[in-house]
Amino acid sequence: MRKFERYLSALFLFTIITLLLTSYFTFKEVINSYNKNQYQSIIPLFSIVNTEIIRPLNTAFFIANDPLLIELIDQEQVSKNRLLTYLRTMSIRHNVVTFLALEKHDIDIDSNGEILSLSNNKAEWYHRLKAQEYTQFADIGKAEDPHLFFDIKLFNTRDEFLGFAGVAIDLDHFAEAFSEYRERFGFELIFVNEQNEVTLSSNHLMKTESHHRQDEIIHVNDLDWYQQMIKNGGKQLANSIIAYSDGNRVISQMPLPALNWRMFIISPPASEQQEYWALFLTRIGIFLLIIIVLYSIFIGVVDYFKKRLVESSETDFLTKLPNRSYLTWKYEELSCEHDNICVVIADIDHFKEINDQYGHVVGDAALQEVARKLEACLRNEDICGRWGGEEFVMILPDISSEQAIEIIERMRESIANNAFSHSSMSQSFNITISFGLCHKNSGNQSLDNLIQLADTALYQAKSKGRNRTEYVK
Ligand code: GH3
Ligand code: MG
Ligand code: MG
Repeated sequence: MRKFERYLSALFLFTIITLLLTSYFTFKEVINSYNKNQYQSIIPLFSIVNTEIIRPLNTAFFIANDPLLIELIDQEQVSKNRLLTYLRTMSIRHNVVTFLALEKHDIDIDSNGEILSLSNNKAEWYHRLKAQEYTQFADIGKAEDPHLFFDIKLFNTRDEFLGFAGVAIDLDHFAEAFSEYRERFGFELIFVNEQNEVTLSSNHLMKTESHHRQDEIIHVNDLDWYQQMIKNGGKQLANSIIAYSDGNRVISQMPLPALNWRMFIISPPASEQQEYWALFLTRIGIFLLIIIVLYSIFIGVVDYFKKRLVESSETDFLTKLPNRSYLTWKYEELSCEHDNICVVIADIDHFKEINDQYGHVVGDAALQEVARKLEACLRNEDICGRWGGEEFVMILPDISSEQAIEIIERMRESIANNAFSHSSMSQSFNITISFGLCHKNSGNQSLDNLIQLADTALYQAKSKGRNRTEYVK
């Protein structure tokens, strides 16, 4: 049984180790494929940048460099309807809002049909950008409905300033894609213009009241990760594609030369991966705890059934006394510890007649009662078992023949003087029992040997009239 438990423990240990190893490698695989997915997910970002930024920018350039348009707006008079038709055609064709702001005609007109005078407050941007030396601008505006504006200065063939042409891109698509990347992969996207101002970022679409943002300008130089990147990457990083890792997260820079912008993709911090590992370890901890509890319960149940099995394999079903196999095993144990052992065999007298007269059920009950009476007279260290049929064997260690005979006589009398009865019958009856005993003083005598000797004594007791004890020296 000990061996069985050892096998069981080894099997459990093996199962736990296998499960732990498989879980570990599976989890690692999951994290790896997550990381792979994460890096692969950068690729569609470029296509978003292309469709949402580069393509509309080209449209703005196309409009600003259209010679027919320049010729039209350079005239002293221009029809608003012609301008609107032009803007609408362009808007439909390129799927962006297009606009013109014209100095000579004092008009700010867009493809949605909104027409303002340049002196209107909302056209404040016009004067601000006009005053700057640059010829093209890209910026975010309209907080409630964020748009990316590309404004390009218009000049006639004599290089005289005519106003602005441009496009406004609805950033809803962009914002949605941003937040999806942020939520799914933890990416941050940051766009920075020539002046190192953050123009667009995944967690911060700038607030503004007007066409162009004026407040809340964030400089990329103020951001921790950028400072570190500059420190480590030097000056050469300005216009190149680079990937930089601060040991915690990976920052990739992609220049957008058409805009003179740079795009930064910031991967989630490694601490998020540590969170996955922490989660994994907690799960494994709980799993181990459950396994240990299950193992203990299982061992407990096995132990319980094992005891029951051993007990039932060593116990006589009818009398609940130890059976022959237990007696044999116990004798081996006792004979190693004691040289002096008394072996007694007891046989109920004329038991066949009791069966014949009162039936087997009464006979069984009588056997049970005799068993109790025999047990009751023994010392704690003595053992009484059923040898078979109506025969009992007792093993009494460390005892003299006289003491043994004394005990046996008490048994015999207690049985002989007892009135046996049964619920199925009105009258009672008496039972007598005969004993034969022998002594093991030394040597390696087997139980069978001793029983044989005791049996001859029993035979004598039977032949001498029963209900008595005989002793073989
Ligand atoms: P003796 O005094 O010579 O021992 O006579 P006896 O009748 O006891 O001996 P015998 O060996 O002829 O008969 C033993 C009887 O014990 C026969 C059998 O029916 C009965 N017996 C054996 N085992 C059981 C049992 O488990 N239950 C019952 N009811 N009877 C049993
Ligand atoms: Mg018999
Ligand atoms: Mg008998």
